[in-house]
Amino acid sequence: MKYLFVLALFAAVAFIVYWQLRPYIRGLRRFLGVVREMRSVREGAPPGSTPQQQPGRKRAANEKLLRCAACGTWMPASRAVSLRGGATYCSHTCLERAADTPRRARKSAS
Ligand SMILES: [Zn+2]
Repeated sequence: MKYLFVLALFAAVAFIVYWQLRPYIRGLRRFLGVVREMRSVREGAPPGSTPQQQPGRKRAANEKLLRCAACGTWMPASRAVSLRGGATYCSHTCLERAADTPRRARKSAS
């Protein structure tokens, strides 16, 4: 019975302490969030999380350039539309144009 009383007292004290520290804990959590944000900004985007956010500003310098098979435009490899056969195109428009040409020729031939 005495043990239960001590336990209840301890719980009450813990609750009061927690209640008193609540704004402090909230501030600490916010501080940790800011630190985490700062660290992520300093390290840059973590690999694989947001690859589309940076449109190759830094990467374009040392990136391989590929030539469009349809219109001959040079573009970075990351922006190229490539086929399994090895041909690369600057856009889907060029890809469709290139894919259309032999089909049309075949159709007119037959
Ligand atoms: Zn093209």
